[in-house]
Amino acid sequence: MDKCPICKEIARGKYWCSACKTVFVCPAPTCGAEISKRDAAECPRCGLLFADYIAHRKMYRQCPKCKKRQGLSEPQCKHCRYWFNCPTCGHRVPSTSMLTCPRCATSLH
Ligand SMILES: [Zn+2]
Ligand SMILES: [Zn+2]
Ligand SMILES: [Zn+2]
Ligand SMILES: [Zn+2]
Repeated sequence: MDKCPICKEIARGKYWCSACKTVFVCPAPTCGAEISKRDAAECPRCGLLFADYIAHRKMYRQCPKCKKRQGLSEPQCKHCRYWFNCPTCGHRVPSTSMLTCPRCATSLH
């Protein structure tokens, strides 16, 4: 383990610091995004909620529209039908106001 650049404890793992819970690299197996925001609660690329993963190894994300949590592998919110990822090309839909996929223009209704 290395020294954590945030809290200076020698508790820095590959993905996060176990002392201050700062995440450095997204631990989702298919993601691995580098997290540059130091107090990030979720991954900017895949949406993984870090607190649930660190505490329980659960892969959840929060729907940006209705704020309900659900499994990270779901492509669409079960509650409000918001698409997290385009049903055609899998591109992440970055905003709740998008009506079509920014990559392939599939309708997201
Ligand atoms: Zn730390
Ligand atoms: Zn991620
Ligand atoms: Zn929702
Ligand atoms: Zn698409």
